[in-house]
Amino acid sequence: MASPAKQAKAESHTIVGYVHSVSPVKTSRRNVRYFEANLQTGREEYHRLVAFAVGKRTAFVQASQNDRAVKLANVKKSVSYSDPGGFDVICSNGSSLEVVEGVQFCRRDPSSMGQMTIGEVLRLGPRQSVGVVEVKILPEGTVSKVVAVDGVQCELKEFQICDRTGQTTLTLWDKQILAVQVSKSYRLAKLATRKSGDRTVLTSTPSTTLSEISAVGQPDSIEVRDDRQNTSMIRGIVNGVQIIGKHRCRRCHSNQEEFVTRASTHRCQRCKLLQRSTSFAVSYSGVLVLTSNGQDQSLSFTNSAICNYLKEKEMSESMKDVEAIEEHFLNIGQVDISVNGEGLIVSIQECAENELGGLVLEADFAGELHELSLEHEEVKH
Ligand SMILES: [Zn+2]
Repeated sequence: MASPAKQAKAESHTIVGYVHSVSPVKTSRRNVRYFEANLQTGREEYHRLVAFAVGKRTAFVQASQNDRAVKLANVKKSVSYSDPGGFDVICSNGSSLEVVEGVQFCRRDPSSMGQMTIGEVLRLGPRQSVGVVEVKILPEGTVSKVVAVDGVQCELKEFQICDRTGQTTLTLWDKQILAVQVSKSYRLAKLATRKSGDRTVLTSTPSTTLSEISAVGQPDSIEVRDDRQNTSMIRGIVNGVQIIGKHRCRRCHSNQEEFVTRASTHRCQRCKLLQRSTSFAVSYSGVLVLTSNGQDQSLSFTNSAICNYLKEKEMSESMKDVEAIEEHFLNIGQVDISVNGEGLIVSIQECAENELGGLVLEADFAGELHELSLEHEEVKH
């Protein structure tokens, strides 16, 4: 029990509630170990709980699994970034947990942890977690971006998604981009909300999972938010290329400053675990200088464009060897490159004429080029 002196401290609180979804132990960027949970403190009132007392995790898990209410003493309330106006509950080593009876409200799963429709998502505030959505990825409206996170180039891609109740934007990061195809439907778990203007949008998190499902319906009207009109197809010859392959530890997600691709093992610089080199995830970035109609253009690679190209060419065995990929692009002949309004390479294709020996393009391919070239005179077909 807490002493009266401690209880008198303005920052210490006693809170009664039910514990939901206790996370595994995580490590912060400053190497502090903690876990999270969702604390239900009223019939429909929930707070994020952050516990630095990792030794108490088992007690939290048991209370959650057995649907028992708990009294948390000597906890602190902190400003909540995920719930402005609400608060987070902070549990330290000085906090205590005790199972209690006779709580006035029932244990209820927070709705956002279960399955939601897009209509329900649109009514959420920013930085809420969303358990599961089942959505269709619309064929139009994808936007590619590259942003720096901790000094490392990360690719993100926005997709328009919908179900029968509504439409919003979903942002996927890095490898997740490669796991989806437009016009297909997916069940996505563990997403988070953000605000984009007035609209609540969804973003993936490091723990997001996705799996393909049978077709999901769509609302009566679809809003086209598209950067496709800014996307152009450029045909040219590669005259310079630099590809950077960044390796990331799959266990602690830290980027490796130095990585010898030909070595069979590598020790993570952060978590210090020795692992097989192939266990590290690679993400590519870089620059390609394309000469088209006598003019040089400097374009930025996206990771997904390189990965899709290597997959199509069945070059995955050379995935780790960036020099081999660079040489391939220099020797390939003409390429057709799709570039978005921000100068990012969305896709790369070896020019069909290289293989057909200068014959007329196949009808469907030519048609596609024609459509894209209406605004862009540099494309010849
Ligand atoms: Zn590591």
